[in-house]
Order: sequence, then C-alpha cells, then structure tokens
Amino acid sequence: MFRRILIANRGEIAMRILRCCQEMGIETVAAYSEEDADTLPVQFATESVCIGPAPAAKSYLDQNVLLAAAKAYHCEAIHPGYGFLSENADFAGQCEKNGIVFIGPSSGMIRSMGDKQRARELMKKHGVPVVPGSDGILKDWREAAETATRVGYPVIVKASAGGGGRGMRIACDASEIRNAFESAQAEAAAAFGNGDLYLEKLIPHPHHIEVQILADAHGHIIHLGERDCSMQRRNQKLLEESPARVLSAKQREGILRAALRAAKACRYVSAGTVEFVLDREGRYYFIEMNTRIQVEHPVTEMVTGVDLIREQIRIAAGLELGFKQSDVHFSGHAIECRINAENPAQDFRPCPGTVSFLHFPAGCGVRVESALYPGSRVSPYYDSMIAKIIVHAPGRLEAIRKMRVALEEMTVKGIDTNIEFQYLILHNTDFLVGNVDTGFLEKNTDAIVRWGEESRRGRS
Ligand code: ADP
Ligand code: ADP
Ligand code: MG
Repeated sequence: MFRRILIANRGEIAMRILRCCQEMGIETVAAYSEEDADTLPVQFATESVCIGPAPAAKSYLDQNVLLAAAKAYHCEAIHPGYGFLSENADFAGQCEKNGIVFIGPSSGMIRSMGDKQRARELMKKHGVPVVPGSDGILKDWREAAETATRVGYPVIVKASAGGGGRGMRIACDASEIRNAFESAQAEAAAAFGNGDLYLEKLIPHPHHIEVQILADAHGHIIHLGERDCSMQRRNQKLLEESPARVLSAKQREGILRAALRAAKACRYVSAGTVEFVLDREGRYYFIEMNTRIQVEHPVTEMVTGVDLIREQIRIAAGLELGFKQSDVHFSGHAIECRINAENPAQDFRPCPGTVSFLHFPAGCGVRVESALYPGSRVSPYYDSMIAKIIVHAPGRLEAIRKMRVALEEMTVKGIDTNIEFQYLILHNTDFLVGNVDTGFLEKNTDAIVRWGEESRRGRS
C-alpha cells in the first residue's frame, strides 16, 4: 500500500480523500492554491504544499507543478478527485512516465473513454445499446443534416471531447442543424481544443441513470447499483438518489448487466461510472463513461456500505477487490443534495463571500461532506458547491422526510445558498411520486423560486 498520497484537489472532495487516507494509515500532502491557504485540507493533511496562484490554470491544473510537488514530498501516488485533472489523459500519462501512480484508470483508458464518439462505437460493437445517431465523426453540417433526417429530429449534436455539459447543442428541426453544428464546434474547439462532433437522437424527457463500477487489475468487475441523477439544471446535477425508483426489477437487471458489459468491453480498471439515458418506454441507451470518482458517489456508499475512495486507492495500489458481486447487499434508500453558494432568485448567480455562521445537520442516517467552517471564505475562483448533504433511510419517503429535516436544520449565514430551493424541491408532488425527468427543473424552477418568495412574504 502507498505510504503517502498527494491530493490534487480542493474543497469537500479533498477532505473526503484525506479522511479516507487517514483511516488507511496513508500520509497525505494537500496541494493548495494561494487562495486556499486557509482551508481545511491544508490544516488536516500530514503536509501541505502551495502550488500557485488562485486561477485553476495556474495551480490545480498545472501538471508540472503538481508532479514536482509529488516528487519533492515523496508521494507515491496522486489522487485527482473530480473535475480539474481527473479525466486528463496527458496528466495520467505524465504520472506514469514519472513513476507516480495516478489514482484512476490508465492514461490509455482515460483517452479512449474521453473520446465519446469512439467509446460509443466500442459499446455498439459489444452489444451495449447506444442512442441512435451518427457513425463516426461528422464531416460537416451537411452530413449532420443528413444523419438527423435519417434518425429523426430533434437531435443533439455533441463534442466528442466534451464534458461538464459543454459542447452540446439541440436542433429541433432542419432549420436549426447548421447553427447547432457550428456553435457546438466553436465551443468545443475553444473549450477542449478539439472540434470533432457526433450526433444523437434527442431522447424526450429521459431519466439520467448511471451505474457505479469497481474493477481491479486482476479481472474482477462488479457493479454497485445505480443512481438516478435526473434532477439537473443546465446539465449540472443537483440532487441524486439510489436506487432509481423509475426502474422495474427487470429494467434494473438489464441496465446493470449492460454497464458491466461496457466496463468489460474496455477492460476497465478503477472506480468508474457508466451513464445511460432511459426513455419513457423503459429503453436505456449508453451515453458515456466517466473514468473518475463522481460527486454523487456517497449515495452508492450509503446503500452498499462500500467505501468507494478506499476501493479506488486499493485498486490503484494493485490489490484485488476484497469482495465479490454476491457480497454486495443493497439496503434502503439514499439521497444527496448538493448545496451551492448561489442565488436561485437571480438565475443561480454564484455568491462567494465569508461564512459568518454555520451549523450542519446531523443524526441517524445523516452525512455531511464539506470543507466549510464558520468564518471560511467561499472563493469566486472555483466551483460554487460548498457541501453535500446525504441521508439514508429504509425507504424513499423516509429518506425525503429525513432530508427535509436536515435542510431545515442546516444554517449558513453570510452567503446566499440553494438550501431553501432544495427544500422546496423535496416538497414538490412530482418529485414525491418520482415523476422527475431531466427536463423537470427547466420546467419548474420559476415556480419553485416564486413559491419560496411568496412564503417569505407571507411571513413578514
Ligand atoms: P458528476 O457526474 O461527478 O456530478 P459533473 O459533471 O457534475 O460530474 O462534474 C463534476 C465536476 O467536474 C464539476 O465541478 C464540473 O464542473 C467539473 N467538470 C466536469 N467535466 C469537466 C470538464 N470537461 N472540464 C472542466 N470541468 C469539468
Ligand atoms: P457530459 O460529458 O457533458 O456529461 P453527457 O453526454 O453525459 O455529457 O450528457 C449530459 C446530459 O445531457 C445527460 O445527463 C442527459 O441529461 C443529457 N443528454 C445527453 N444525451 C442525451 C440524449 N441523446 N437525449 C436526451 N438527453 C441527453
Ligand atoms: Mg455525463
């Protein structure tokens, strides 16, 4: 096992990795930007090292500085968390070249899954259903138009190198395809340095269902069930749960088996997630594989009792999975709410600032992942997510009730947050009956925001 790991990330995920390392008897080195000098990972890591100024490009994304820090501080491995360099094949390759273990799959694997079009072709070849669409990269907008006519509008044009919801455009009919193609291409070229595009039929009102995979270097591949992440705003997930209420037992079995087939097709090694969209008829289609730990991994941990970061580290160290598929037992229902420093009434404008008062919920089945403390500063330089609240209860309605109480108790003063917005979602009748697809928030955000404002007015 590793003696020392460099944590190349910040915020809640840096704390999550740090705690896990401490439990495993592994020393940690927290890499931090000048902006993050006063944050908790710096306090609690065995050692810490400043890697540059606030902008991520000059610190958390600076590959050379991170590698130099890992060497100078005698780290045998680097944990990239999520975001930043976690899906950067070049960085994983640099780690390999320098004899440092990148905690994740190999650079070759990241590259082949990061090319979403190629991943799609591979899945098709191995009998994993993909969304009807183009074969290979589209030459130009005319080829996009021909393909769209063949599969039927509406369609979604996607960047093959895309991620984080960027480089995607919807075309509802033939008059929109040229514009969709050209603007997706421009965005992809600017954001990913690669303008390659492919096209999929737009599945109307789908659920986003994803399957957690663990695979070791000895040929063992298991799944840890699914998550429903349909509660999305502009392709950013807001609330996630496991199991997915929408799946019948037969559909669940099928989608889990398809995910295993996908992981086997690419000989996957590490923790990973296979993402699907599920249509109204219950058919599911592979959309992509994420080769990293995900923000929403705790919901899976709560229903399985498996520590995913621990397994990810053990696998990177070359160890065999300590348990088999038949050892994994699923119990109860888990929900995660992402708490962001943002103002829902002002189009979710990020609201950095100083936390003047802070109280986190607690209790049976309530878990908090955060690096926030009273007096801490929420930086404008990074993602606005400040905490994740996760609850676990025997059933879905009990979990919802637990989450409501947790959010009532949670108090953050000094900055705006989406706590009330999440609380109101938890009272929406469509959500209660599990009737939420990826279009839910687009349709209901205004009403939910108004609902909050009216109830406040009623009080004053
Ligand atoms: P998850 O499925 O783990 O929730 P998200 O899409 O929310 O994944 O991404 C997790 C984090 O990584 C977010 O902070 C997001 O902004 C960031 N992220 C994801 N993809 C990219 C990308 N290609 N470039 C930059 N940041 C990204
Ligand atoms: P990213 O790499 O940015 O995460 P994805 O391909 O995973 O991109 O798509 C992001 C989100 O867009 C999905 O979670 C889903 O909600 C929606 N989406 C993607 N493809 C389709 C599709 N073919 N039909 C309908 N919705 C889709
Ligand atoms: Mg995705």
